[in-house]
Amino acid sequence: MNKKIWIRAAYILTTVLVFGVFLYLVSLPSFRSFVAEIENKTFDLRQNITSKYAHPSDKITIIEVDDESYEYIVDKFGSWPVPRVFWADLITNLEPSKPNMLVFDLLFLKRFTADGDSDFELIEAVNKNKNVYVSMNFDNYSKEVRTPPKLPDALKNTIENDFLIKSNPDLVYSNCRPILEEILNGTKNIGLINVQRDKDGIIRTMSPFSYYDGAYYKHLTVLAGLDYLEIQTNNFKLNKSGTIPLEKKYSLPLNSNGRLILNWYGPEWSFNYVPLWKVSKAIEKGDKKFLNDSFKDKIAFVGVTANSLSDIKSTPVSYMFPGVEVQATFLNNILDNNFIKKLPVIVDALLAILLAFLIGFGVMNFKSPAKSVLLFFGLYTGYFILSIFLMYFLNLWISLAAPVILGIIVFATAYIVKYLITSRDYEHTYKLAVTDGLTEMFNHRYFQEQMNANIQTAKRYDSIFSLILIDIDFFKKFNDTYGHQSGDAVLRQVAQTIKRNIRSTDIPCRYGGEEMSVILTNTNKEDAIKTAVKICEAVRNKEFELATGDWTHVTISLGVASMPQDGETTEKLIEYADKCLYIAKGNGRNQVVSEAPEDTPTE
Ligand code: GH3
Ligand code: MG
Ligand code: MG
Repeated sequence: MNKKIWIRAAYILTTVLVFGVFLYLVSLPSFRSFVAEIENKTFDLRQNITSKYAHPSDKITIIEVDDESYEYIVDKFGSWPVPRVFWADLITNLEPSKPNMLVFDLLFLKRFTADGDSDFELIEAVNKNKNVYVSMNFDNYSKEVRTPPKLPDALKNTIENDFLIKSNPDLVYSNCRPILEEILNGTKNIGLINVQRDKDGIIRTMSPFSYYDGAYYKHLTVLAGLDYLEIQTNNFKLNKSGTIPLEKKYSLPLNSNGRLILNWYGPEWSFNYVPLWKVSKAIEKGDKKFLNDSFKDKIAFVGVTANSLSDIKSTPVSYMFPGVEVQATFLNNILDNNFIKKLPVIVDALLAILLAFLIGFGVMNFKSPAKSVLLFFGLYTGYFILSIFLMYFLNLWISLAAPVILGIIVFATAYIVKYLITSRDYEHTYKLAVTDGLTEMFNHRYFQEQMNANIQTAKRYDSIFSLILIDIDFFKKFNDTYGHQSGDAVLRQVAQTIKRNIRSTDIPCRYGGEEMSVILTNTNKEDAIKTAVKICEAVRNKEFELATGDWTHVTISLGVASMPQDGETTEKLIEYADKCLYIAKGNGRNQVVSEAPEDTPTE
């Protein structure tokens, strides 16, 4: 296998392997929820950054029941909740300032009827003023505890092609906390204030609709928001991508869980807040200017922020977020038409794969590890920054967790593969350095190394080994007759024949020119002679192909020397084998000689 094919095979195999491992991980629910949780944290991080530059609408003012207002009320009325006449008076006294809307993030439940008389005044104030909105809450209490109330048709909505809401168990409710019946039947301005938290307890999404008893019901903020935008309809349609398009280019892009992903504001610029006690004082004193300045044309949200009343939520931008501000954020998103949209999964996946390929490619091609590491951090930092811009300018949520995890896997794998290829490269270079190109036998240098090594071993362990020197007969003449090309071809084939007739532990070398040698490790002279004879006969009996395509015979002469009897140094053993070879040549060639008298001359 040549180097290029090997590298390509490694690429393909690794790619398949990496994506295989990744797909396997993705198929595990626990891995998916692990990734989803990290992804949510990256969303929170991005929101913490983008929210610094996102101003909430000045159309929204929050009348907050803060800790001071709570003290004020307890001091004045002796208890919380206040008698409902208080809220009735608030509505009646705020109306002259012409607030666009008065939205109550408070439940006027049936059970608070201790002051039955003042309920009546609240009912009248709510039902009479068409800009007053009140809330309602669904739950899943057993119908044996509480009979699920029938809700008025005016509150019902239809959603065509719904494939996200009704199928989502979090958004389907079986029971309803009943609010004052006269309000329930007296106004259309009743919306839900249900919230759903993510697994980590943080509110990132809000459901614009919930399903109850055969119909869809609007969230309080959707009800108020759409009224504010003068998009008044009870019939909606979900398109294929999960978005509910509205008039005037507005839309409600539902997430796969049937909810809207909120886009947060502040905390540097929070909503306009007016504490309830100040409003109450202004009403008492008849401070019209304060009331007009605060509420004219505003959407006034009435809600609780006091820690002691514990309507505190965790959100991406704060762990201590007043519930009413979550609602205000939701409403503000409707007005700004800036809900967060996720990219289609396929686009997200393609981006992740693209990044992974860039990483893999970089690691495989960069020589220095520093460059690879730089590429990795550069690429993902760039992607992170891009994701912030996309979130800020286009309200887009692109995935970060999965691409980074894939990137890390690819980075690590690419490194391992690169290491393997490099080590194989090294092996290849080493092999080149010890091999003779023509015969693919070991070269002379390696022969010398191995001779020395075998002598060392034989001396230390008192063991044996043998050496065969081989020379092709009349090769000069052969070259003269058939040409050098044919000579080379035959030399190669003789080398092959030698290799085929020795053990795998024997070391075949090209000694030089047309002379070859074999080191036979752990082999005594008798066995070495047998091998030499076998080689001699094999060459004699073989037909060799010439460069011209013709066939011919050649013969070889062989000399054998063994450690220790024929010498105990490389020089001595080679000299002895050379003498044998000389004798073989003198005796008519084409034979093995293994005994050389002291006085035999060498060539
Ligand atoms: P002898 O039987 O005594 O060995 O006769 P010879 O002609 O083979 O003599 P010698 O061993 O001295 O031959 C050396 C010749 O081998 C010289 C050269 O023509 C040939 N030779 C050496 N190396 C190569 C080679 O790499 N390729 C080819 N084609 N010929 C080579
Ligand atoms: Mg020779
Ligand atoms: Mg020769």
